[in-house]
Amino acid sequence: MAVSLASTSKQPIGDVSPIDLDRIRADFPILHRTVNDRALVYLDNAATAQKPWAVLEALRTYYETENANIHRGVHFLSVRATEAYEAARCKVQRFIGAARPEEIVFLRGATEAVNLVAQTYGRANVGTGDEILISTMEHHSNIVPWQMLCEQTGAQLKVVPINDAGELLLDEYERMLNSRTKLVAITHVSNALGTINPVAEVVKLAHARGVPVLLDGAQAAPHLPIDVQQIGCDFYAITGHKMFGPTGIGALYARYDLLDTMPPYQGGGEMIASVSFDKTVYNAVPHKFEAGTPNIAGAIGLGAAIDYMTEIGHAAIMAHEHDLLTYVTAALESIPEVRLIGTAKEKAAVVSFVVQGVHPHDVGTILDLRYRKRNRLPLAKDKITDQSVVHLFQENGCG
Ligand SMILES: *Cc1c(COP(=O)(O)O)cnc(C)c1O
Repeated sequence: MAVSLASTSKQPIGDVSPIDLDRIRADFPILHRTVNDRALVYLDNAATAQKPWAVLEALRTYYETENANIHRGVHFLSVRATEAYEAARCKVQRFIGAARPEEIVFLRGATEAVNLVAQTYGRANVGTGDEILISTMEHHSNIVPWQMLCEQTGAQLKVVPINDAGELLLDEYERMLNSRTKLVAITHVSNALGTINPVAEVVKLAHARGVPVLLDGAQAAPHLPIDVQQIGCDFYAITGHKMFGPTGIGALYARYDLLDTMPPYQGGGEMIASVSFDKTVYNAVPHKFEAGTPNIAGAIGLGAAIDYMTEIGHAAIMAHEHDLLTYVTAALESIPEVRLIGTAKEKAAVVSFVVQGVHPHDVGTILDLRYRKRNRLPLAKDKITDQSVVHLFQENGCG
């Protein structure tokens, strides 16, 4: 890949070629539009990422040339659509290192993935007096489904604390694991703090006590290479729109043996093998968990997003994001009124901060206005120019 990493590092880092920023910018049509007569600066990737042409083209090509319902028709288009949908499942499988494609359930997003586990595995395995462990740094999607399960079953939600840097207190976590613990549900990367949790260690400690672990990977999938078998987790949730894919599509990974024994989530078409008024036989996994016509185009778009990220390569993405994080951390720390929230040693390129005496809502509004007026971020100067920072951020996951 050619070199044009603005002014951060023109030298390859190790044997990783720097990202070709101009080429990547060109891949994202929304970056070609203006906002308030200025080139768009987009820093909200932790909430949702923009989409490259490759993803938009995949959606369009699907609807223009292959659209049909899947798994049931014998006609040409239905077969093509089914193949494309199942090929997307295999892309997700390889992307997160699952052992087999049947371990990937397509869903609306990470939220639905956590709810599915809570309402199927959770309902079947959690009872009165049992405990579910989450952490202080969870997204609402990994809190509320467990609160609902606790209300339904009489179980208790226990929250593992973090330190001032935003790091999980592993000792506390280990102490809180006990014979009542039925499930651990923890984020891989925090959307608010950027913290990368030591998930393999989290899993090891839980498994030593026979407790299964769900990892919320919504924020990890855009930033890190993921290998669910190496991590050893039982469940892993991702969401397409945070990793350059469409909204309304995500996936749950679950170990095959667990998935196979879990009761279905919703009833309907696709999830059944045979139906009569006396008895319904459920389909095999993963179809048992994909009731109704799924988001076929979304899955294909997610597959295209995975291809796009894979082509750039995690090593290049991580090296680039590391540069960005180093730069923005130093720049923000040089402003006395600014306090960074989340300074974990292991941290992804997600940056949160507060400005002393100013409500975060006002900071957001003022930065937006300031940008409109001056077309630059109010950051301290370093060897990178303000303009190059604007470019760098547009490509990356700094929320
Ligand atoms: C965005 C996010 C979710 C929820 O994803 P949805 O696409 O809204 O389902 C869950 N966890 C984390 C850490 C997130 O960043």
